[in-house]
Amino acid sequence: MRIKEAYIVIERGRIKRIGREPYGEGSGYQLNCEGLVVSPGYIDTHIHGLEGIDVLEATCDDILELGYKLVEHGVTSFLPTVAAAPHEDLLRVCRTVREAHESWNYKRGARVLGLYLEGPYVNPVKRGGQDERFIRGPSIKELEDYIRASGGLVRQITIAPELEGALDLISYASSRGIVVCIGHTMATYDETMLAIAAGARKATHIFNTMRSFHHREPGVALALLLSPSTFIEVNADFVHLHPATVRFAISLAGPDRVVLITDTSKVARLPDGEYVVRGMRIIVKEGIPRLAESGVLYGSFITLDDAVRNVHSLGYSLEECFTMASYTPSRSIEADVREKIGLIAPGWRGDLIVLDERLRVVKTIIDGNLVYERD
Ligand SMILES: [Zn+2]
Repeated sequence: MRIKEAYIVIERGRIKRIGREPYGEGSGYQLNCEGLVVSPGYIDTHIHGLEGIDVLEATCDDILELGYKLVEHGVTSFLPTVAAAPHEDLLRVCRTVREAHESWNYKRGARVLGLYLEGPYVNPVKRGGQDERFIRGPSIKELEDYIRASGGLVRQITIAPELEGALDLISYASSRGIVVCIGHTMATYDETMLAIAAGARKATHIFNTMRSFHHREPGVALALLLSPSTFIEVNADFVHLHPATVRFAISLAGPDRVVLITDTSKVARLPDGEYVVRGMRIIVKEGIPRLAESGVLYGSFITLDDAVRNVHSLGYSLEECFTMASYTPSRSIEADVREKIGLIAPGWRGDLIVLDERLRVVKTIIDGNLVYERD
């Protein structure tokens, strides 16, 4: 959103007014935006960890600590994410995220939105960095357990539509208000269209860990890109996708459907070296994490502010880039309705960031409170 010579007034956590003139004393937090670049706070809807923190192994304090680390990258809300794991571990993370969600306040950093289950109901052939031992067939019973343990905070789930029972699970999850993503999958074009008809509405990191495009079997990626009702996760680290592929996805789906994500893991932003995450050996070389055995990418190494700068470098406008990092991620998990985040407008949460001309984060404001300011 481009605001010229404007003051943004935030009261009791919500944006009250946007105007040309400042308001008198006692009008809450006032931000004079004149000459500044301001965006709604970024929203990372796919993040497994960062700098030594792993959501799956995390305590409540670790989850909040992750949110604290994110504010310097302009992220004001995030959706902690886990991949395939034993049932007991997933139940534990459901309870931990619930606890973190309940004890969150702006002083702790980015808002905890709930939980994203990126597995375990995925295709082992396209497991990517997921642990094969814990991948399994769709189970409504298990998902019910997760919904209960999290207190209804499972916001999103990835399902491979070609698995037996997947369509029933997609219908069930959608009916419970959970956003169903299609990913880690070998689904054909037709299988994907059936999944969309059953309620699926988002692509998990488009093109990565999914059947490749072929002109006679366009497959899952094209079905998702061509379906106007779906959102499209894009990993814009320029390693997971060639920059031209990022442009291809955005030009097909548009900024109103593209959700920039990071998909970072525990080893992201750690020094180069070898790490072990739950028994899997990960090698970080020149900042890029890969599984030691297969060389498969193990999540990305960028934060969401990097993704915005990368996409901006492709020629997309500031408004388009901010939309893909805030408003569209919000709409994709219905946080525009539930939390009122992702837009600078009266009545919406006072989550804003101020950037310099190189799109580096200068200030992060959550619920009208300054939570980060660059030295
Ligand atoms: Zn992931």
